[in-house]
Amino acid sequence: LRAMIMEGIGQLNYREVDRPVPEPGGILVKVDTCALCATDIKLLTYGHDAITYPHVLGHEIAGVVEEVTPGVKDLKPGDRVALAPTLPCFSCWLCSQGAYTLCGEKKIFGYHYWGGFAQYVAVSRAGVENNLVKKVPEGVNLEEAALMEPLACVIHGQEEVDVRLGDTVVVLGLGPIGCMHIAVARARGATTIIAANRSSQTRLDMAKRFPADIYVNQQERDLKEVVMKATGGRGASVVIVATPAKAALSLAQEIVAPRGRISIFGGLPKNDPVIPLDANIVHYKEVTVHGSFSASPRDCDLALKLIAAGTINTGDFITHRLPLGKVAEGMDLIRRGECLKVVIKPQWDQ
Ligand SMILES: [Zn+2]
Ligand SMILES: [Zn+2]
Repeated sequence: LRAMIMEGIGQLNYREVDRPVPEPGGILVKVDTCALCATDIKLLTYGHDAITYPHVLGHEIAGVVEEVTPGVKDLKPGDRVALAPTLPCFSCWLCSQGAYTLCGEKKIFGYHYWGGFAQYVAVSRAGVENNLVKKVPEGVNLEEAALMEPLACVIHGQEEVDVRLGDTVVVLGLGPIGCMHIAVARARGATTIIAANRSSQTRLDMAKRFPADIYVNQQERDLKEVVMKATGGRGASVVIVATPAKAALSLAQEIVAPRGRISIFGGLPKNDPVIPLDANIVHYKEVTVHGSFSASPRDCDLALKLIAAGTINTGDFITHRLPLGKVAEGMDLIRRGECLKVVIKPQWDQ
């Protein structure tokens, strides 16, 4: 079978590999769609402690069950499935408090296991037993289902920062994640959504298919002015920083309302993560800063439910479809900010 193999840092090689053999209790999935994520670029560029070579990236996976091993219940060949990429240990002190995304022992597709940039992916027995394999509801196609995980991350973030009825939400950064934040904030009852982007007019234009109320190109307009005007000088009740930019984190402090909440949704580069924080804004305005990382299995279930209900149409986020051999091309689209979601279709390759 064909796979896009990561042979080392920065090295992708499109080649033939042996078909993975699922362990007893595991299954084999024929990959229909694996979406590219900015994380894949990060992993390719910097590597990761969990990765050994050769490796296959890709963690936003949907496909069809090809083979089940004896002992697998509730799944059969032909089932359409999406994979929740992260398997927490379920027994450490963080897992025991429900903080599954922070589990230090978690195993992730595309990190610890070979991921979805291949024609087939094996799911371990632990993955099957702990329900990482989600049956895709009727009426949801596999491309929509492959975006379960990024949507789950966004849901996780908005539950942390508690977007609620009547909120004014500012989303900084309009990549696919920022755009999902627009859609989820609307679903949660935000009354005014202000979507802002600094770098790319293309992205701002693509973001216009999602239901924000005001779109701001920060190169042309002063966002603080726009936010203050829209809120009668109060500021935004929620600011979601969905871009790895220090300037955005500083701006968030200037535009947040008293009692407002800031979500630091994206990580900063490892070697440069320290930002100035005005402690008096936090103190005198009773502002709360929330972190959010990854998604739990439960967030994935919720995401799939919202996709099935039509609350969030993940298909709207897909701008490009490419065969497996063109993963590198897809990454270039992301680097240039010319796309929202790029999905890879491994079965298009012969
Ligand atoms: Zn991802
Ligand atoms: Zn754990």
